[in-house]
Amino acid sequence: MSAATVAVLVESRDGSVTQPTFEALTLARALGTPVAVWLGDAPDGAQVERLSVYGAAEVRVVPCGDDARLAAGGAAALGAATADASAIVMISTFVNKEIATRLALATGAGVVVDAAGAELVDGRIETLQTVFAATWNVRSRIETDAGIVAIRPNTTQASPAQTPGAAVVVDVAFEPLASRETVVAVEPVPAQEGIPLAEAPVVVSGGRGTGGDYTLVRELAEVLGAAVGASRDATDEGWISHEHMVGQTGTTVTPALYVACGISGAVHHRGGMQASGTIVAVNIDPDAPIFEISDFGVVGDLGDVIPQVIARIKERRDV
Ligand SMILES: Cc1cc2nc3c(=O)[nH]c(=O)nc-3n(C[C@H](O)[C@H](O)[C@H](O)COP(=O)(O)OP(=O)(O)OC[C@H]3O[C@@H](n4cnc5c(N)ncnc54)[C@H](O)[C@@H]3O)c2cc1C
Repeated sequence: MSAATVAVLVESRDGSVTQPTFEALTLARALGTPVAVWLGDAPDGAQVERLSVYGAAEVRVVPCGDDARLAAGGAAALGAATADASAIVMISTFVNKEIATRLALATGAGVVVDAAGAELVDGRIETLQTVFAATWNVRSRIETDAGIVAIRPNTTQASPAQTPGAAVVVDVAFEPLASRETVVAVEPVPAQEGIPLAEAPVVVSGGRGTGGDYTLVRELAEVLGAAVGASRDATDEGWISHEHMVGQTGTTVTPALYVACGISGAVHHRGGMQASGTIVAVNIDPDAPIFEISDFGVVGDLGDVIPQVIARIKERRDV
């Protein structure tokens, strides 16, 4: 019997597949045979090849145009390509979480969003989630035959498949929805500075302790290949734009490494970064709450500490 089909919703930027999709494909291989689902204009051969390297047995292209930008259209388009799938895996973005729940409602599939992992146990999908500001780990089992799982970026280590997929492109028939919503204009938001926060494997954040000067935070982020984050106090001060905010009202991040510079560690900030792999904090106050959740803490002025860290990293790279 052939392995069950597991559909993976592809995320792309400017026509290029983004790193979290490879994480989703890696996870999907543990659940069955992955097929990639591409919503919108067909990908070029290089992207199909990249998807096959991570195990996609085929790339199903749904010509849904701007319907994919609306949750209802995205759910319908994804549904058109996944009728045979025992599982659908996607990245837990705002729009994907809505697509996942709409599709689950339409098909009766069990759904888990913001998962940190998924595996097959006795033929059922079990997922891991870190909830309530990372104070609880939850394991859930999807009891329906088909399941939908939206996983957080950076929670699975992407690795190429031992045997690449066939890189076959399949066109999926799709009739645009007679929707009550219509896309009338699409205007790209100016690209976020550097790597997008939500999917960055390393994040360096600065808070009020920067005094408004992000030069060192940006320099450290650059040497680490990291995205730049911030506390709400820093964004409210106008020191850095709001899309950099990490926390309860900002972006939830789950990087392998989170470096907090001059951030006290208020509960609202912790809620958005506490599930990071390794947390490093630099703070002049030895009693700052951020140290309670840090794996490595430096009590010191970030103006003294960060230049030394940057110099050490550069030295070690030169060795
Ligand atoms: C409903 C609600 C939602 C919120 N949502 C969010 C959210 O999503 N994200 C968020 O971040 N906040 C959020 N907040 C705000 C949050 O409660 C804190 O006020 C905020 O996180 C504090 O930011 P901070 O750590 O930069 O500043 P502070 O709490 O003022 O901490 C600054 C830290 O810098 C240290 N410091 C000062 N100088 C230096 C130096 N030279 N070198 C090293 N360390 C230094 C200090 O010791 C201190 O620990 C929310 C608040 C509310 C009420």
